[in-house]
Amino acid sequence: MGTIARYLIPIDSKLSAPEYGNKAKAALLQMEIIFEAEDAPEGLFYNGEKSKEPFQIEPGDDECGFESAGIFSSPHFILVPDEYVDGVSCPKCNADIIERWISEVRDDDGQRVEHVSSDVRILCPNCGAVLRLDQVKGETVAKFYMTDRYVCFWDARPFKPEWVAEFDRQMECHHETFDYWQT
Ligand SMILES: [Zn+2]
Repeated sequence: MGTIARYLIPIDSKLSAPEYGNKAKAALLQMEIIFEAEDAPEGLFYNGEKSKEPFQIEPGDDECGFESAGIFSSPHFILVPDEYVDGVSCPKCNADIIERWISEVRDDDGQRVEHVSSDVRILCPNCGAVLRLDQVKGETVAKFYMTDRYVCFWDARPFKPEWVAEFDRQMECHHETFDYWQT
């Protein structure tokens, strides 16, 4: 067991990443989904008055819709989910390529690597396939993204599709959702 992270990844946003981040923060604050504590680190938020609204809440759930929320926007691209990932393999030949891949995702100190472009490629040492970092096959992750922006909620129920549609409308772009168990 661990904590589930639920991501909203904008896929056709016309805004710059900082513009997206500011707009997402303003929209979520205005809807009272999130609350910005004075002493919270940049991009980290807590429960607003209406924190349950985006989620498919079930009977017996407590007062809060999630544990904490994150809004990431950067001039650089990172791979998400950006929490610990167990293993990855080549989608063409199934060879284990975690070593080549992880060196482009985490540095020697375990910090996430930020890339200037989303088009970073690695070579499969077994079959020679040239793969984007988000094209690899994850052992515990269904899909990876290279992105310079996202919204994430930790320890939350699945999103309500109608809420995501409303957030899409406010943000003027579509969002793909995915979840990831952080152990
Ligand atoms: Zn291969």
